[in-house]
Amino acid sequence: MQHRIVVLGAGYTGAITAGRLARRLRPEDVAITLVNAEPDFVERVRLHQLATGQDLTPRPFSEMFAGTGVRLRLARVTGVDVDRGTVAVTDADGAGELEYDTLVYALGSGWNDLGVPGAAEHAHEIAGRAGALRLRERLAGLAAGQPVVVVGGGLTGLEAAAEIAEARPDLDVALAARGGLGDWLSAKGRAHVRKVFAGLGVTVHEHTAVTAVAADHVTTADGASVPAAVTVWTTGFAVHPIARATGLEVTGTGQIVVDRSMRSVSHPDVYAVGDAALVMGPGDKPLRMSCASGVPTAWQAADAIAARLTGGKLPKVPLRYFNQCVSLGRKEGLIQYVTADDRAVRAALTGRIAAVYKELVCKGAAWGVANPLLVPAPRRRVVRERADAVAPANAPA
Ligand SMILES: Cc1cc2nc3c(=O)[nH]c(=O)nc-3n(C[C@H](O)[C@H](O)[C@H](O)COP(=O)(O)OP(=O)(O)OC[C@H]3O[C@@H](n4cnc5c(N)ncnc54)[C@H](O)[C@@H]3O)c2cc1C
Repeated sequence: MQHRIVVLGAGYTGAITAGRLARRLRPEDVAITLVNAEPDFVERVRLHQLATGQDLTPRPFSEMFAGTGVRLRLARVTGVDVDRGTVAVTDADGAGELEYDTLVYALGSGWNDLGVPGAAEHAHEIAGRAGALRLRERLAGLAAGQPVVVVGGGLTGLEAAAEIAEARPDLDVALAARGGLGDWLSAKGRAHVRKVFAGLGVTVHEHTAVTAVAADHVTTADGASVPAAVTVWTTGFAVHPIARATGLEVTGTGQIVVDRSMRSVSHPDVYAVGDAALVMGPGDKPLRMSCASGVPTAWQAADAIAARLTGGKLPKVPLRYFNQCVSLGRKEGLIQYVTADDRAVRAALTGRIAAVYKELVCKGAAWGVANPLLVPAPRRRVVRERADAVAPANAPA
């Protein structure tokens, strides 16, 4: 009987996990099903580009996974019953159920309005493709001189503000940041962002918390009103509520708590990767929601599942940071080198070369999703029927 592995979500981490498992395990031993709501891969790291009118390369899963042995199931996940080992889905034919022996939860995240009044009704978001397409349409309809406010001074906010200002120099683009502009970056990195924003004409409201959003302005903590025909909300990501409803152990923010092998600490049949998982990184700090740290969690989960099923030695994939790659429009960028636990060091790459570097990183990330067959690994036989048959004590420290 085949061991049934169901992977929920085909973003960067779910797609990589499924492809890598198919490479690591023999098709006669396992049935790998990848469930996703949409038929093609969404390059989330480029959604600010999509929002500003650029077209992204279509990446249909049917092509990406052709010949890999991964079965695609186009459906929306509505629930997981971890006691029965089932996943509830809906698709064009209605409601259905999938049974699993091992589950990989990789449903990612969406935008986080932080409960700020008016944000859900009036703000735009770019955490998902649907939101980015809505913003694209709205921006295209704006007349010259109209104000756009990007709320959030993190990596996504910097990228969004620069992209919009570069694509639409006729608009009046502003960024509202709770702290100083790029205040976690090195001095060189901060200076570069400031220079690029000045060149693009982006107005920066530093140390400014937005407390309410209306159709034509945002209100700040000091009571000021900033005109905004469009508000773009980029204050971090929130995981989907499905995990919290499963009975899996989750954090206060709903991320699934996993061990170093990405296995749920409460349910050994379940693994979680990417934004949906709380993974401790170097310095015992949680990894931030990012493609940069999510991809190694996918490698780790796939290799741990394969090792457990085949009786192999549990691998320990390095989980660490090297750099933060920030696009500042299409012509400018910033590569901020960081410590293993993501703190900026002095060195940074700036300018055109950084833009090219970032572009290669994005291309590489998508290429890595589409090319799991390059993983060099022997296809070992599954020796145990259930993933939890191997003692958790086997987990790497
Ligand atoms: C504009 C933007 C720029 C970014 N830039 C960077 C960057 O430069 N570097 C970096 O490291 N990170 C960046 N990120 C963050 C990065 O995109 C995410 O951390 C990463 O995509 C997380 O991967 P994931 O596989 O966990 O989730 P996702 O990529 O979100 O994939 C989740 C998948 O699950 C599917 N799904 C969700 N819910 C359901 C459901 N109920 N049923 C079925 N399918 C479902 C989704 O359709 C999607 O395919 C950026 C994010 C954004 C929005």
